[in-house]
Amino acid sequence: MTRTPTQGPESELHPDTLAVGFGYDPEGAYGAVKPPIVLSSAFAYPSAQAAKDVHRAYFDGPAPERDAPFIYARLDHPNLKLLQARLAVLDGAEDAAAFASGMAAISATMLAHLKPGQSMLHTTPLYGGTHGLLYGPISGLGIKPVPIVDGLSEASVAKAAETALEHGPIALIHVESPANPTAGIADIAMIARFADALTKRQEIRPVISVDNTFLGSLLQKPLEHGADLCITSLTKYAGGHSDLLGGALTGSLERVGPVRMLRTLLGTHMDPFTSWLLLRSLETFPLRNARANANAVAIAAFLRDHPKVEGVTYLGFLAEGSPARAVYERQCGGAGSTFSFRIKGGEREAFAMLDRLKVFRMAVSLGGTESLICHSATTTHYLVPPDIRREVGVDDSSLRISVGIEHPDDLIADLDQALKAF
Ligand SMILES: *Cc1c(COP(=O)(O)O)cnc(C)c1O
Repeated sequence: MTRTPTQGPESELHPDTLAVGFGYDPEGAYGAVKPPIVLSSAFAYPSAQAAKDVHRAYFDGPAPERDAPFIYARLDHPNLKLLQARLAVLDGAEDAAAFASGMAAISATMLAHLKPGQSMLHTTPLYGGTHGLLYGPISGLGIKPVPIVDGLSEASVAKAAETALEHGPIALIHVESPANPTAGIADIAMIARFADALTKRQEIRPVISVDNTFLGSLLQKPLEHGADLCITSLTKYAGGHSDLLGGALTGSLERVGPVRMLRTLLGTHMDPFTSWLLLRSLETFPLRNARANANAVAIAAFLRDHPKVEGVTYLGFLAEGSPARAVYERQCGGAGSTFSFRIKGGEREAFAMLDRLKVFRMAVSLGGTESLICHSATTTHYLVPPDIRREVGVDDSSLRISVGIEHPDDLIADLDQALKAF
């Protein structure tokens, strides 16, 4: 049912077109205009020899051959294969693997590319789950994570590397840019050059993984800037309706292959129904993204000019001439639609405002059709100690919003009436 070339004339098409139909051929599926869901857990072999050949191809190759027959749904299944082809083409990647969640993609990537005795670097702040993984189970395996204080400064990367090298070779550099919820930016190309230069000091070149969840494949393509692996929580913008969890890993066959093999062993692949839902979501991804981004521009400007708002950390407002602005302009195709703002007040004023909102829903997560808002210090950053919270720019007055696709006037009116609460 799937014809999935990731290279060739089809990939010359615009993302809007690829998101709708790339990789699907109705001919193999009763002529169905849309791909059917294939729920089968196992797939019949036509002959004993074919069974042997397909197992050899799966387990000996770096990745299953493009047109290899299916074996068992934990290894690969038709909806997963079609989704992966579409994710790869949208990220401009040779290969893709889809997982049960963003954290499943992140944890398999770390476990596949890090060994005991090695170290790794990461930008700050990190998504809470990633932070918990690195400083919990990964540290427990004898792997040392070292934070990069400023992802725009080569001196800061070099300083972190010195600390890491005391423990062992640096096998991975994990970059989250823009970061949650500060919108801090790291320079992927500079970090890639730094990784190349490290081969003078150690035998291996660190793998560079970038968590691209905040902007997504339409606004940032980390692989074009020197990343080896691009990780995305599909739960957010790609899924886009706050009704599924998923994760994607894209990159070269060589880098994605070992992680996919580990996914099979861990059993953290994406199931057929979620894969199908995502294929459906991807069709409207460019439309949803354009609308949410336009709404975000209007809301960020409204908040910036509001007398009860102290400041807005929206990427579009990065100061002209600043190093962050220069990297933003080179690396990002837009400011996205999730950002934070600080009100003039503290927890009491923030709560009063939140409780008056009627259109915005109060919830964590981001990237859905609906607008969401949350008080970072008491929700997403509850476990982060107050002094570290302040360091990363989250205090009792900070609120994070994920702007949806509703009418912008209704969203602005809702914020306006709620800001009258204090
Ligand atoms: C949500 C999120 C994740 C984790 O994704 P899940 O799908 O919830 O597992 C990872 N990184 C970032 C930046 C996120 O926002």
